[in-house]
Amino acid sequence: MFNIIISNRMKRFFALIICLLMSVCFMITNGNAENDLFDGKKKIVVLDPGHGGHDKGAEGADGAFEKAITLSLARMIATELGSKYRAVLTRADDYLLGIPDRTAVANHRGADLFISIHVGGSFLHKASGITVYYFKEMSESDITFKGATSKTYNSDNDLTTWDNIQKRHVTRSKALAKSMQTQINDRIKHMETRIEGAPLVVLSGADMPAILIEIGYISNPGEEKKLRDTQILSEFAKAISKAIDNFLSEKN
Ligand SMILES: [Zn+2]
Repeated sequence: MFNIIISNRMKRFFALIICLLMSVCFMITNGNAENDLFDGKKKIVVLDPGHGGHDKGAEGADGAFEKAITLSLARMIATELGSKYRAVLTRADDYLLGIPDRTAVANHRGADLFISIHVGGSFLHKASGITVYYFKEMSESDITFKGATSKTYNSDNDLTTWDNIQKRHVTRSKALAKSMQTQINDRIKHMETRIEGAPLVVLSGADMPAILIEIGYISNPGEEKKLRDTQILSEFAKAISKAIDNFLSEKN
């Protein structure tokens, strides 16, 4: 009798466990399906931390590397964007990615935005400020182009290697650059934000609104100090994510 009672209890117990497991499995499966469905509708923002691996990018007098700052900032922006958007980093760690491969990530993902992140470097220690670049076949200023972009982004690329598909998005890329300028000026004090057109290869093949942002000059001791400050980098991340949100929320 005792055995029978135990056995029935055991049966009921196992039946209950199986029911619970099935319910949990259903909830998980169903939840993932809904999440996938929901994620599929999210706008995709591809963030491209410049340089990586043996390519350290520009280097500050105090030893800060551009490649580390760009990755930190990209991660912060992704966090700021939160669950409203799907943020994708072209590189998630300290390794090098070819320039065409960076743009390809955005194209293959069908991204709504592509943002390449860099830090300026110059032999002129006084060079300072933030520059937001959009793609333009001819640079607006030869001096700016040679000083701020040719060394860093075009050293191993010819301007003719891509088909300049970005040209069809330039109007919206400029609007995105303007949104960046407004938000950064609101949050980051004592650093001027410029907007410039330049024939940057990393932008030329992007089939969506795309910009390259250079957040200050690591070669300027004062700005290197700011770029090493997590608090200030976090302000940049907030400003950039706000600009992204404003831009993508507009009905275009
Ligand atoms: Zn760079």
